[in-house]
Amino acid sequence: MRAGAYDCDVLVVGGGIVGLSVAYAITRAAPGTRVTVLEKEAGPARHQTGRNSGVIHSGVYYRPGSLKARYAVRGAAEMVKFCAEYDIAHAVTGKLIVATERSELPRLHALVQRGRENGIPVRELVAAQIAEYEPEVRGLAAIHVGTTGVCDFVAVARQLAEASGAEIRYGAQVLQVDRRPELGVAVRTADGAVVRGRVLVNCAGLYCDEVARMTGDDPGMRIIPFRGEYYELARPELVRGLVYPVPDPAFPFLGVHLTRGIDGGVHVGPNAVPALAREGYGWGVVRPRELARTLTWPGAWRIAGRHWRYGGGELWRSVSKAAFTEAVRRLLPAVTEEDLVPAAAGVRAQAVLRDGTLVDDFLIHEGARAVHVLNAPSPAATASLPIGREVARRALIALGRA
Ligand SMILES: Cc1cc2nc3c(=O)[nH]c(=O)nc-3n(C[C@H](O)[C@H](O)[C@H](O)COP(=O)(O)OP(=O)(O)OC[C@H]3O[C@@H](n4cnc5c(N)ncnc54)[C@H](O)[C@@H]3O)c2cc1C
Repeated sequence: MRAGAYDCDVLVVGGGIVGLSVAYAITRAAPGTRVTVLEKEAGPARHQTGRNSGVIHSGVYYRPGSLKARYAVRGAAEMVKFCAEYDIAHAVTGKLIVATERSELPRLHALVQRGRENGIPVRELVAAQIAEYEPEVRGLAAIHVGTTGVCDFVAVARQLAEASGAEIRYGAQVLQVDRRPELGVAVRTADGAVVRGRVLVNCAGLYCDEVARMTGDDPGMRIIPFRGEYYELARPELVRGLVYPVPDPAFPFLGVHLTRGIDGGVHVGPNAVPALAREGYGWGVVRPRELARTLTWPGAWRIAGRHWRYGGGELWRSVSKAAFTEAVRRLLPAVTEEDLVPAAAGVRAQAVLRDGTLVDDFLIHEGARAVHVLNAPSPAATASLPIGREVARRALIALGRA
C-alpha cells in the first residue's frame, strides 16, 4: 500500500449507533480526518440499535467506576442534549424499579446505594406510594429514578451519520481484512470492492469477534447471541411510564420490563433466550455455521451448566405465552394473555469469555492499526456518545493525530 493509495484515514466497520458515534467523534475531534463507514445493510441501525427498548438509562445499575457507570451517567445527559439540539423525539420520564418478593428487597436497597454512589437521584417508595406513579402496578417496595428517559435511537443514528460528514457506504459487508501493520488495512466487501484505510475501527456488533479475527487479532471472547422477545400492550393505558423488576445480579440483563416508548405504545420485554443465529429474530432462524461457533466455545457450555435453571425458565416463557403473562402479572396484575400482542424481537451481542464469564462492562481492545469494540451491550445506545469519543481517541492515537 503506497501512502497515497488510501481511500480514507479511518475505516469504521458497522453503521449502528456505536460506529456512527465513532465517526461523529473523529470528525469533531480532528476535522479533516477522512472517515468511511462500511455497513452491510441498506441503511443504518438495522440490528441492535433499531431493535431495543429505546430507554435512555440513568446508570443506576452499574458498578461505580466501571465504564458502564461512567459512560451511562454522562451519556444519558448528552443523549438528551443531542436529541434536543437536533429535534429528535425524546422524553425524560423517570422510571420505577419494583420489588415483588421479599427476597428482592435487599437488592433493591443495594440499588439505592449504587444509584447514589453514581450520583443519580433516587427516591425510595413504600408499597402504597407506587400508585402515585403507576396506579396499576403492584409491589412490596420500589424506587423512582428521575433521570431515565426514552428516545428514538434510530433517528439518533441517522443524525450522527449526517452530522459526522463521513462517507457511509451501505450494502457493504466486510468479508476480508488484509492488515499490514506498517501501512494500514485493506478491506474487501461482498460486492468485490476493496477499501483502504490507515486504521480500522471494528463496531460490528453481533459480528465484532469475527471482524477482529479477520483482522488477525485474537479477541479472547466470543459473541453469544441472546434474543430478547417483546410484546406490545394492547391496553397501553395500564402503564404510564417505565416499570422494571429488580434485576438478578448474576446476569447482565435487566429482566422483562414495561416501557412506554416515544410513540406512546407500551412494550413488554425483553426476555433473554439463546438465539440460533446472530441475527436470529425468531426460533425459525437457524444458521448452522453460527450455531456451531457458539456450541464449540467452551464458555457457552459453562454458562449453560451454571444457569440452566434460570435459562430453562426463560425458554419456557418464550414458548408459553401463558407463562410469560404470569411473569408480567407479578408487576401488573391487570394484564391478560389477550393484552399481549407479539412485537419485533432484538438480539443482544453478549461477549462471553472462554471460562463462561459473561463480560459485564464495555470492552474495547486495540491491535496494530485497529480498535475493536468487543462488548457494547445495554446501555451502549445511551452511552454511545462517550463510547464514540473514547474509541475515536484511540483511533486518532493509532493514526498519529492525537
Ligand atoms: C433487546 C435489546 C434491548 C436493548 N435495550 C436498550 C435500551 O433500552 N437502552 C440502551 O441504551 N441500550 C439498549 N440495548 C443495547 C443497545 O441496543 C446496543 O448496546 C447498541 O445498539 C449497540 O450498538 P452497536 O452499534 O454496537 O451495534 P449494532 O446496532 O448491532 O450495529 C452493528 C452494525 O454492524 C453491522 N455489521 C456487522 N457485521 C458487519 C460486516 N461484516 N460488515 C459491515 N457491517 C457489519 C451490522 O449490520 C450492524 O448495523 C438493547 C439491546 C437489545 C438487543
